[in-house]
Amino acid sequence: MIIQRSSRLTADELEDIKQRNLIADVAGGYTKLRKAGGRLVGPCPVCGGRASSQRFEVFEKDASWVCAVCPDGGDVIRLVEKVENVDFRGAIERLGGRVEIDAARQREIFEERERKRVAREKNSADYREAERKRLFRAWKSAMPIHDTIAARYLKGRGLQLPDHCPGLKFLPLAPYFHGEEIDDRGRKSPRKIHSGPAMCSAFIRPDGTFGGLHLTWLKVVTPSNETEGRPSLLKAMILDPDTGEILNSKKMRGSKVGAHIAVVQPDQAPRRLVLGEGIETVLAVFTAHVMAGRFIGDMAFWAAGDLGNLAGRASGTIPHPTLKRPNGHPQRVPDRYPDPDDPGLAIPDSVEEIILLGDGDSDRLLTECAMERAARRYTRPGRIIRIAYAPEGMDFNDLLCAGVPA
Ligand SMILES: [Zn+2]
Repeated sequence: MIIQRSSRLTADELEDIKQRNLIADVAGGYTKLRKAGGRLVGPCPVCGGRASSQRFEVFEKDASWVCAVCPDGGDVIRLVEKVENVDFRGAIERLGGRVEIDAARQREIFEERERKRVAREKNSADYREAERKRLFRAWKSAMPIHDTIAARYLKGRGLQLPDHCPGLKFLPLAPYFHGEEIDDRGRKSPRKIHSGPAMCSAFIRPDGTFGGLHLTWLKVVTPSNETEGRPSLLKAMILDPDTGEILNSKKMRGSKVGAHIAVVQPDQAPRRLVLGEGIETVLAVFTAHVMAGRFIGDMAFWAAGDLGNLAGRASGTIPHPTLKRPNGHPQRVPDRYPDPDDPGLAIPDSVEEIILLGDGDSDRLLTECAMERAARRYTRPGRIIRIAYAPEGMDFNDLLCAGVPA
């Protein structure tokens, strides 16, 4: 029964139409779809999209579609509009039109929507916790770093390790996952594309529990002839087997938000904290202190993994003076002020001095904003905060290799 063509549809009426017309059924009526990586893919019924049969994708969980060629996407109504070249109302009619919704149907629609939402949330919370436990087992199984390939790799970069170094460990065979694969029963799982030696460290959450892993894959490079010297160790070069794209040899898995890597931890509660983005950055500053014979018994050296995690969320964004987006508009970067709803890293109350390390090899404005944001966020009465910048184009490890005291 089609009623009241003129007035607007209510949210329930829209939801009713979508529940009666599942995206997979409607899209499957237009084009031939196959399952791939938890979604359906096939030639695009709108543009033909034959260049690649994977450019038209249907996501049953979100009841949505997207075509990279069109480029367009949306819900089932949008799909009918595009394929049948009709307006919104035309699409609604083709999908069976608006049907009077009684209280029982309304209840049903609500329950179905809730069921999907709860399933989605539970799924992701369960998945995250299972992943965290898997990573924790890997962390427990990892070897102490001294006398391993990872220690030699760091030494090769001029970096020293503390005698007692529980924050960094070594995995002789760490799997590198990229993308997903589907077995013949349609179940998807992460796709392992590489396995090899890796330096690993634990992200410690603000409550002190294990959150995830930071991994750096390494490889041994054997020189082609003897004059080139001894085998050296480098970050592994990992390629996507499908595209040949060079992938990052570092990976962060699990939850790192608000979590830190305790690269060097003093025996006592730290009074001073050196805080940087990367492990090698803070190790470079540690090494410079050791080489200069400075007292470090009260110093902690932490890595945050990335700038965003180091400084926490910003209150807003500002336009970049030179970087542009593809459409010519300026790129926007997180500003200098902390979002008060994000506590950032859990800095111990014992810390009286924080030294923030700003690498010079990332974008200057982005780095400056992050450093100032961190300084504002972590300031306390009686606490000194210093910001140390590496010269433009260098990180602290380059500085150490160049023989300049940090
Ligand atoms: Zn298309």
